[in-house]
Amino acid sequence: MIGPIDGHVRMRRTNQGLLVDGWVELTLELSCNRCLKTFEQPMHVDFEEQFYPTVDVISGMPLDPFDEDEIFPIDAHHEVDLTEAVRQNVLLALPMVTICREDCKGLCPQCGQDLNLGSCECKPEVDARLSVLKQLLQNEM
Ligand SMILES: [Zn+2]
Ligand SMILES: [Zn+2]
Repeated sequence: MIGPIDGHVRMRRTNQGLLVDGWVELTLELSCNRCLKTFEQPMHVDFEEQFYPTVDVISGMPLDPFDEDEIFPIDAHHEVDLTEAVRQNVLLALPMVTICREDCKGLCPQCGQDLNLGSCECKPEVDARLSVLKQLLQNEM
C-alpha cells in the first residue's frame, strides 16, 4: 500500500454482534503480469462484515468460539479491529490478472525486451504444431 488509507464505516448492532459496512480508498503498488513493472493502482473497496463478541460483555467470560472464516472477532476489550476484514476485502477486489494498462504489450518471450519501449529484432516464434503441418505440406508437393 502506498500513502494513506481513507474510509468510512458504519456499525449496527445485531442480535449476535455487529454488522459493519463501509468503504476504503487506498492505492496499491502492484506488478504488471505482462511487463513485470510496478505500477500504482488506486482502489475503492466496499465491504460488509459481521463481528461477534469473544467474551460476554457483562461477565467477561469467554463465549463459544465461532467460525472465524466468515465472522470476525470483537476482542476481549470489546474493541473492533478492522485490519483483517479490510485486508481480505481488498484482496478479493483485486483482479486475477493485474496489468499496468489495458494495452500493455508485455515482454518479448524470446529476448525479454519491454515491447512498450519499442519492438525487438526477434522473429515471431513458429508454433511447433504449425511447423509440422508446414513440413507435411512441403512433402505433398
Ligand atoms: Zn505492463
Ligand atoms: Zn525479442
